Amino acid sequence: MPDKHQNIDLEKERKEILNAFKGLLRVTKDNRNKEETKMIRKAFDVAVEAHKDMRRKSGEPYIYHPIAVAKICAEEMGLGPTAVVCALLHDTVEDTYITLDDIEELFGETPKKVIDGLTKIPEVFDENVSIQAENFRKMILTISDDLRVVLIKLADRLHNMRTLDSMRADKQLKIASETNFLYAPLAHRLGLYSIKSELEDLCLMYMNPQAYQEIESKLKSTKAVRQRFIRRFTHPIKEALQEEGYVFDIKARTKSVASIWRKMKNKEVPFEEVFDLFAIRIILDTPEELEKPDCWRVYSIVTDFYQPNPDRLRDWISTPRANGYESLHTTVMSPQGKWVEVQIRSKRMDNIAEKGLAAHYNYKESKNGDNKFDRWIGEIRDLIDNHSQDAMDFVNEFKLNLFNDEIYVFTPKGELRVLPTGASTLDFAFDIHTDIGLQCIGAKVNNKLVPLSHQLKSGHQIEIITSSKQKPNEEWLKFVTTARAKQKIKAALNDERKKIAEDGREILDRKFKQHNIRFISENISLLENYYNVSTATDLYIRIAKGKVDLAKLRQIKNVGGVLKLEKEKKPKKIRRASDINKRIDKKKDTLIIGDDFNNIDYQFAKCCNPLPGDSVFGFITINDGIKIHRTDCPNAENLMSKMAYRCISARWKAKEVKEHIAKLRIIGIDDIGIVNKITEIVSFQHNVNMRSISFESKDGMFEGKIQVYVLDRYHLEELIEKFELLEGIKRVERWDDLEHETPDDYDEETLS
Ligand code: MN
Repeated sequence: MPDKHQNIDLEKERKEILNAFKGLLRVTKDNRNKEETKMIRKAFDVAVEAHKDMRRKSGEPYIYHPIAVAKICAEEMGLGPTAVVCALLHDTVEDTYITLDDIEELFGETPKKVIDGLTKIPEVFDENVSIQAENFRKMILTISDDLRVVLIKLADRLHNMRTLDSMRADKQLKIASETNFLYAPLAHRLGLYSIKSELEDLCLMYMNPQAYQEIESKLKSTKAVRQRFIRRFTHPIKEALQEEGYVFDIKARTKSVASIWRKMKNKEVPFEEVFDLFAIRIILDTPEELEKPDCWRVYSIVTDFYQPNPDRLRDWISTPRANGYESLHTTVMSPQGKWVEVQIRSKRMDNIAEKGLAAHYNYKESKNGDNKFDRWIGEIRDLIDNHSQDAMDFVNEFKLNLFNDEIYVFTPKGELRVLPTGASTLDFAFDIHTDIGLQCIGAKVNNKLVPLSHQLKSGHQIEIITSSKQKPNEEWLKFVTTARAKQKIKAALNDERKKIAEDGREILDRKFKQHNIRFISENISLLENYYNVSTATDLYIRIAKGKVDLAKLRQIKNVGGVLKLEKEKKPKKIRRASDINKRIDKKKDTLIIGDDFNNIDYQFAKCCNPLPGDSVFGFITINDGIKIHRTDCPNAENLMSKMAYRCISARWKAKEVKEHIAKLRIIGIDDIGIVNKITEIVSFQHNVNMRSISFESKDGMFEGKIQVYVLDRYHLEELIEKFELLEGIKRVERWDDLEHETPDDYDEETLS
């Protein structure tokens, strides 16, 4: 142990640890028999011994962490004794001498399996989003084995977030952003609403402390006013409920800081205009069989006092949400002219809403065949069935339907189906069965014929029409919103592509044989280059579709069956540039760029930003004098072919020391650290200054646009080469801006 711990009173510490453990026993008290209590004690003893020489970053004994995680599992997730045992032991196998076999011997098979699952998901706070995503997928895969693995992992993360203070600042940011990206949505998906809100708030606190503190202090300063309002609002309801003999609890729940922040951002409004800062929750203590009539009776009482907004009634009692949430929501108008959301539910429903499916799961732990739970697990299983899917896609689809509301629709036989808002007939078809989806040509909604893309509404009854001749196409992806439909369509399209590619491959194979060319990867990648496609599959598909001129094969040098290109050819560009040079009127004077004696008004075109060393020409504009374009500028061909008489030749003066803007497009695999690496290269590169940088990421790929000041073309090429060496970078190219030319430049009529 480091020196600073030498003065710690170990005896006192031991007592405090025991107290923490007693706290854990207290919260599990109603949920364990003698045998289970013994197990929990044993787990505690084993964990204390195993972690005895370890301390957390804050300096406190490590054992506090597993105790806290176990407490979260029991108290906040409503999990049973097995989960408590596993939570106490969750870090032993990974961090101490304890082995999985030890766990099995001491605690049996189930804890061994759960801890095995937990150990397989390493704690990586990697900057690389795709590694996080892969890790996340591993975790979700354990759901079908034992949901407790995921729940304990979530509890573990929650405690780490609560104690993030003692971490280094850069680590705080990494952990917070990963939590925001993966764990908060996961908590939402599991219906653990309070944990989700807390995680989001903690993330915001570390990721945007200013916004967090601002909202928090405003919430504090408006608290008294809010409470007065709530007291006045709930007073008549309370009296009426008491009169009718209900046992109930009324709570006012303030929205979380993170959700207020989200609303401010999305709607671009200040704090003062986020009107629904809180919701009133009425929780009835009533037996399960009376829940529904009682909740509606309360609804009736509330709306006797306040006018409800008919558009905002949500009945999740008759049809619970997919994650198990049950409640009756209404939004009513207060006498002060303010809309107030009122949530009505039973104690049991509140328990599920607070602790989520976990509490539900525990409740039914011994029995199988619970519909809601099975349906939810089934949905997740559907997602993970597709093994070929890339981890990033997986995460995106997992999150896809999270924040959507749901609609309730019916099959022709009257069976209820729950779909996300915005779902189409095609989504419905895939929800029924993959084959029905793949062959869907339309549907009848309430007996009226509608297309595939038709958006469904709650209450619709849908009959799908199929045809065995139907085949999915790319367009379909635009019509669907469910992860399931998206995935099945993509898989079908992929199969189709593979078939076509197979045909193309055979065609190429035959052609190769004809010309005595060997079918080796060297030749294939040469052709990819030659025909300008990025993968072999793309090449084969283009061949199958007849889009590649295979007659050109004869023009490529063939050395004993191996193809050789004369030079690194870029056929199109070279042809265009020489073409243009030919068409420039050579009799006209050549514009020398950078020559002081040459008193001509010129500027560099913003579409292609020519650099010294580039092959260039001048174009006479109406109002802006001469503009210098690169001969391979995307606009050049147009200018040359339509207005050759306005083009003059130009070249660079031998030596010109001046900075020029160059624009680059960088494409690669998404990676949090990549921006940093790119800017680092720029700052170390001699004489290069950055003007702007912007990045966009989509589906695990990113596209960055950066503008730099460089001296000339060679200078820029040096920079490009450095970028290309970065890991994960796929392509670096000069980026031309076609839209940058003003129409004025081309206007012939006004040219005098
Ligand atoms: Mn842990």
